[in-house]
Amino acid sequence: MTSSRALRGALLGLSAAVLLGTLAFLYSRTEAIDFKRESETLSLLRELQALDASWDADASRLTASLAPGAAPPDRGTTLARILRELERAGGRPEVADALPAIKSGMAAKSTAWEALRARHERSLAALEAARLATRTLVSEAGSMRLKDPKRAERYTALAGEASTLAATVRAAEEADGALAARLAGLREAAAGTDPALAAAAEAAEKAMRDFLAARAEERAAAQKMAFLTVGGRVDLLSRTVSRGVQGALEDKERWRVYLFFYAAALLVGVGYLVARVFAAQAALREANEGLEKRVAERTRELSEAMTRLKESEAQLVQSEKMSSLGQMVAGVAHEINTPLAYVKNSVATVRDRLPELRDALAQSDRLVGLLQAESADPADLQETFGAVTARLAQLREHRVIEDIESLSNDGLHGIEQIAELVVNLKNFSRLDRSKVASFNVNEGVSATLLIAKPQLRNVTVERRFGEIPSITCSPSQVNQVLLNLVTNAAQALDKADRRIVVATRREGADAVAIEVMDNGKGIPADVLPRIFDPFFTTKDVGKGTGLGLSIAYKIIAEHGGRIDVKSQPGKGTMFTVVLPLHPPAELAARDA
Ligand code: ADP
Repeated sequence: MTSSRALRGALLGLSAAVLLGTLAFLYSRTEAIDFKRESETLSLLRELQALDASWDADASRLTASLAPGAAPPDRGTTLARILRELERAGGRPEVADALPAIKSGMAAKSTAWEALRARHERSLAALEAARLATRTLVSEAGSMRLKDPKRAERYTALAGEASTLAATVRAAEEADGALAARLAGLREAAAGTDPALAAAAEAAEKAMRDFLAARAEERAAAQKMAFLTVGGRVDLLSRTVSRGVQGALEDKERWRVYLFFYAAALLVGVGYLVARVFAAQAALREANEGLEKRVAERTRELSEAMTRLKESEAQLVQSEKMSSLGQMVAGVAHEINTPLAYVKNSVATVRDRLPELRDALAQSDRLVGLLQAESADPADLQETFGAVTARLAQLREHRVIEDIESLSNDGLHGIEQIAELVVNLKNFSRLDRSKVASFNVNEGVSATLLIAKPQLRNVTVERRFGEIPSITCSPSQVNQVLLNLVTNAAQALDKADRRIVVATRREGADAVAIEVMDNGKGIPADVLPRIFDPFFTTKDVGKGTGLGLSIAYKIIAEHGGRIDVKSQPGKGTMFTVVLPLHPPAELAARDA
């Protein structure tokens, strides 16, 4: 019972722990993701992207414009800061994985940028050289036009071609075949003319070719820079981190949904449990009230039963007393019968003898009358005298006087026996009263044995009376106990040699003991513990009430004494009643 309750408690505790643990887990899943680092990483990556884009834009601008412009901003510091912070922010593993490549990519970009800028400077220098060479050629052509007006047209065309070529070369994307031919044409047109013009033309062609080469190199550097993939890498990483954050957010949202449904289910469960607890409490209250009502009912029934029991106990005690009284009356009647028969016989015999005496007396009277008369007839006198003498002789012979004397003695003896019985009767006449008084235990035992005489026929009763003081007790009740013990002993005798010993002695300074021993059938060990129980009897129906010993026990206990019993089956039993010289105050108080 206790262990199953403990098991249930443990299971309940475990379930509650699991439920709360699940709740805590779900809650932690919705709280776990820390977006601060991710957003920091993302913003750094965006900054890096912007830097990269602006760098690319600068590169395009630089290559596109041949006008010397303002120096582009220094990106090295910003780049170093961003990379440092990215490294520090750490966060997702893919960032850490990609960072070395980005770093080296950015370093390569920086190198490419510097190379581009150097090429661009060289292009600008070459452009300037080409411009100067063209101007020299144009001015030489102008000088030749003045010197040689006949070929003025040819010089003008040469100067025009030089200017057009300079503009074409400036805008040219690359030195294609046509442009190379036109450049060669310029040199050829001046050949064979003035040597200075030819040299100027050659110098202009070379300068333009140098410019075209420088531009080609610049473009190659720009292309090299453009081919660097670091921007794409940063883009990819940024997207990856974004996607990760998005995924985590979706995860969190999913866990939040789980948490919501779980909490809702839990709430429903808790609500159900609370409802059940309330219902159980109500049921418990109801049961409690019912129980209280039943207890009250039961208490009432019990107290009624107790009252009835007390009444019936009183009745039983009364009936036991009545049966004791009945036994006593029967015993007394029986005991009186014998001496009464004596007395009756004696008196009847005396009465039967009376006519003889009355005759003798009448004859004696006649003799006295004749003797007193003056003239008595001598013959008559003689005859009367003879008759009186014969009567007296007859009386003597019949021993009438001795008989009457003996009969009277017998009658007196019978009367004395009856008188003794009356004294005992007087002792027992108090059986129906329970007054506390001084009591001579030995006399009580004697009276009891006398009263029990009819049951003790053919029983050898031995009295071993000790020198004991009188005790204060309820004599009638103690007599009742003794009579019961003697009667039980007599009823237990089952052998040819039937013996009962009643002994009295002192028990310590303040008590006396009365022992009733028999050599009867004894009490079996399994019966012994029950003999003082009310209504326990081994006797036939109508013979035993099973109340004698229980009442005796109660009486002796009320007197502050005790009853012990020792028995050997087949050999006999000894009851010992120990009574204090003075009973407890309650006994006297009860009687008062
Ligand atoms: P009852 O005599 O009406 O049976 P008691 O209460 O006086 O009731 O005795 C209870 C039982 O104790 C008896 O039925 C008998 O079995 C046993 N008992 C009492 N005294 C003796 C004895 N001296 N020897 C053997 N058995 C006895």
